[in-house]
Formats: sequence, C-alpha cells, structure tokens
Amino acid sequence: MKNAVRLSEKWFRRGLWVVAVLFAWFLIGLGSVIVEDLPKVEAVLKVEDFIDQHKSESINKELESVQSLKDDAKNAVTKAENLYRLAQNDYVAKKQIFDNWLKTREVTGLKEQDKDLIARTEELEHSKQIENKARANLDKKLKSLQEIDFQADKLRERLNQLNADARDDYRSYQRNLELRVFLYRLALTLPLLLIAAFLFIKQRHSNWWPFVWGFIYFAIFVFFVELVPYLPSYGGYVRYGVGVVLTLVIGRVAIINLGRYLERQKEQESLPDIQRRKFLEYEQALSKMAKGFCPSCERAVDFSNEKVDFCPHCGISLFDYCHNCKARKNSFANFCYQCGASAKTV
Ligand SMILES: [Zn+2]
Ligand SMILES: [Zn+2]
Repeated sequence: MKNAVRLSEKWFRRGLWVVAVLFAWFLIGLGSVIVEDLPKVEAVLKVEDFIDQHKSESINKELESVQSLKDDAKNAVTKAENLYRLAQNDYVAKKQIFDNWLKTREVTGLKEQDKDLIARTEELEHSKQIENKARANLDKKLKSLQEIDFQADKLRERLNQLNADARDDYRSYQRNLELRVFLYRLALTLPLLLIAAFLFIKQRHSNWWPFVWGFIYFAIFVFFVELVPYLPSYGGYVRYGVGVVLTLVIGRVAIINLGRYLERQKEQESLPDIQRRKFLEYEQALSKMAKGFCPSCERAVDFSNEKVDFCPHCGISLFDYCHNCKARKNSFANFCYQCGASAKTV
C-alpha cells in the first residue's frame, strides 16, 4: 500500500508551500525597502558642514588681502629689477668710455687732462652709486615679497588645519551615524526574529502554516542576510551572538523532544495493541509502512515476507484478516481492499 495521503491533498500542500515562499519573498522585498529608507531618518551631513565657517571666512579674507599685497610687491620687484638693470647698463657703458679715454690719455700723456680725469672719475663713481642704490632697493623689495609669501603660507596652513579638524569631526559623526542606523535596524529586525521563533514553537503545525513558515523564512533572511551589508564592524558580534543563542535554544528543544519521544515510544510499546493504535495516525501509519518501518516503534520490518503479521520488535499487529472474506489486509486500513467490509465492525 502506497502513501495514503490523498492525491489532491498532496498538490494542495505543494501549492501552500508556494504560498509560503511567495509570502516570504514579498515580505523580504517590503523589508528591504524599509531598511534602505532608514538612513534617511536622519539628515546626512557632509565634511563641509563641519568646517568652522566663521574662522574659515576670516582666514580666506586675510588670504585675499595678502594676495593683493603680494601682487603689489611683485610689481615693485619687477620695477626695482628694471631700474637696477638700467643703472647697471649705464655704469658698464660709462666705464667702457672711461677706460677708453684713460688708454688714449696714457698714450698722449697730456698733463692738462688731470682735471678732466678727476671729473670723469667722479661721474663714474656717481653712476656706481646709483647702481648700488638700485641693487639695495631691489633686495629690499625681494625681502618684503618673501615676508608676504611667508604670511600667506601660514594662513594656508591654518586653513588646512581647519579642514583636517573638520574631517576628524566628520569621521566621528559618521561612526555615530552608523551605530545609530545599525541600532534602528536591529530594533526592527530582532523583534521579527523573536516573533518568528515564537511562531516556530507554537504555530508551525497550525492550519496557517504557510504564512507561519513564510514569516519565519523572512525573519531569518532579514536578520542574517539582509542586515549584513549595513552592519558596522562590531555588527558581527550581534549576528554570530544571536546565531549561537538560537542554535543553543533550538538544539536544547530538539534534545529534550528526542528524550520525550523515546520515553513516549517506550511507554506506548508497553501498552496493549488496541490502546497503542489510538496514538497512531492513520495516514502516518500507512506512510511509515510504505517506507518499510513499523508505525509504532519505527524500526525496519521486512514487509516482503507475507508471513510477518506482527512487528518483531514491538509486537504490534501489522496485518490481520478480514472478518468477512478472510483476506490478509493491512491492520491499519479502515476497509477491506477485497470485499470492502469496514474493519471497525470487528
Ligand atoms: Zn514495532
Ligand atoms: Zn474482506
């Protein structure tokens, strides 16, 4: 005898599993949209928002005025350079003329030219002085340009420091934001997991099981998969911690249930046949037998041997004979397969 679950019931069950999966799918979609919207709960700030605007503005203003000073100083340097070059050229030209004149004088050796020599020397001296002055002026202008540059560098340094401080503040703000968003998400997903655990314990065999299982899948997926990309580094502790606790709880329930099951089995096996049958569900008994196991003690039985009417392990009746036509039939069947007589009238 094959599995006695009715054919259409089997298909209904498959359909209901599809319902469970679809239910989980849509819940997951809805959940991910909600989770994605969570960071928008808070205004998201940028690095610029952490710069001290007042200080930054005043530094920038100073920098601007220093820049215009620098432009002036540069112009002054250019001017001084030109003046110096002119003075230099002038001196060089005059010196050349003087040297030539001196050579001519040595050749001619005219004494009356001594006065002329003094005047020419003085003039050359004067020209040299002008050149020196221009040189000094250029040096002065270069120095003040250097000072202005130094000042500008200092201002830029202060501006950089201001930006670095802002970046530090922004980083700690980001860490805090991450933590808060993570806590929101945890506050949203952890209760789902607890509800799922409750449903698993209390409702998984109820008539509404497709929704129960759909919800359980959804909660597990959201907590262990969907929460992951949003977890800060310490979020792993929560995930694995909850996983450990869940495994412990489920494992404990399973171990306790196994103990209870074995106890119940032993108790049932000590009961007389008729009483034992009351604990066995019709469909389960038939499906266990179809798989080659005793429906009561769940140990393997050789069903191909037609002489086996009782379980050799626990002694429950597996096959009996119709009271009407005496055909050998499954003792759990409600009717005789040969004559259709009800088995209950025995
Ligand atoms: Zn048995
Ligand atoms: Zn019969």
